[in-house]
Amino acid sequence: MSSDCFLIIEDQKSIASLLKSELEKLTSRPIYLADTMAKAKQIISSGKNIAVCLSDLHLADSANGEIVHYLKSQHITTVVLTGSFKEETREEMFRLKVADYVIKDTLSSSRYAVGITHRLYKNAQREVWMLSSTNHNSSMILGMLRNHRFKVSLYEHSSELLSDLENTVPSLVVIDGVQTDATNNAFELTKKVRDTFSQNHLPIIVCEDSKNITEAIKLMKYGVNDFFNTNFTPEEFYARVNQNIEQAETYQAIERLSQTDALTGLYNRGYFFEAGNTQFKKIQQQEGYFFTLMADIDHFKAVNDTHGHQKGDEAIVFTAHSLQTIFANYLVARFGGEEFCVFGAIEDTSEVEDLCEKLRHTIETESEKQTGVKFTISQGITFSGNDLDDAVSKADKALYESKESGRNKVTTEF
Ligand code: GH3
Ligand code: MG
Ligand code: MG
Repeated sequence: MSSDCFLIIEDQKSIASLLKSELEKLTSRPIYLADTMAKAKQIISSGKNIAVCLSDLHLADSANGEIVHYLKSQHITTVVLTGSFKEETREEMFRLKVADYVIKDTLSSSRYAVGITHRLYKNAQREVWMLSSTNHNSSMILGMLRNHRFKVSLYEHSSELLSDLENTVPSLVVIDGVQTDATNNAFELTKKVRDTFSQNHLPIIVCEDSKNITEAIKLMKYGVNDFFNTNFTPEEFYARVNQNIEQAETYQAIERLSQTDALTGLYNRGYFFEAGNTQFKKIQQQEGYFFTLMADIDHFKAVNDTHGHQKGDEAIVFTAHSLQTIFANYLVARFGGEEFCVFGAIEDTSEVEDLCEKLRHTIETESEKQTGVKFTISQGITFSGNDLDDAVSKADKALYESKESGRNKVTTEF
């Protein structure tokens, strides 16, 4: 089967090419164009794996929306473009279970259509977990989520959901009905989820009927993001699902940017201390061992001066990737310039000394092959420190000794 692609069915050439060029800004997946139902059938029957289709409602050979029926029969997720908005059209669209419909009257509505088409494509990678309760809407909600291509898991017991959270974090949790019994307690579930995940890291929405709406409101005080009434319209449901997921994803993308260094993708100094301090306290409580490593490229100023800033950047990136590969199980950060720091829990000191030697050797022997410039790095390690700041300054002192005694070395400071 060919890999996922998109299909745009539209008979107006100018609109079709506008939709295609807007979609190309969001994806590198193939986009096929058809201007008739016959052409669309030909593309689909040729074995193309159409993930999502954006289709005009009326075509020369499909005057009454037959194309939508055909796409439904092929189980293709479809966003429909309509020329006008009528209540009957809307009802027909949801009866046919189209994912969404858009009135193609402005540039912004075309962009919306393209945005939702791409979002539906990506939904196949998004997990939604639903805690269901008896006498509720679970099967309808389940169908609606699947219609938008989400990977949905249904839970009857909150404990099972919590236990799965130890391995995977979904994009959204839906609580269908505020249960308060022992095995399926929405309040307990929300409290426990919020012990580990903020509203921006795992959104929770709750579905409840009007009689019980105060329970849903109360649940929001425990950290539920949003709620909707059982007599929701499809538009309302999808808007809430999408908005809550999108908000969390946007937050997480900004958070990642604030924690990482743009050149190397390693964590930055700020995040190193934030995450490292937490790890340090945990290791101390468990009376475990740890190490802190400072590494710095030797005579880096000369690399820049002789080969240019661009080559200097390549040297930094190569060093960063070597550190990340060799110290894959630890917290690795770029402190700034050509200076790096690594921290983590260990069982015995020789395992770290071996990794440091491996790093030193890799840079010495591989740098020229990988970047065109031969260079080396110096390192300082310590296995002690009253806190992370103290450990870092001890490692820095050891690094200084490596520099003073000839560079391209590893020094341990006890
Ligand atoms: P030592 O062996 O003692 O560490 O000497 P050094 O030349 O490596 O150290 P120094 O601190 O004197 O010089 C570091 C240079 O790194 C100076 C600065 O211009 C350069 N630098 C800092 N950040 C970047 C960067 O992001 N890219 C590049 N290309 N150079 C950078
Ligand atoms: Mg240096
Ligand atoms: Mg330096």
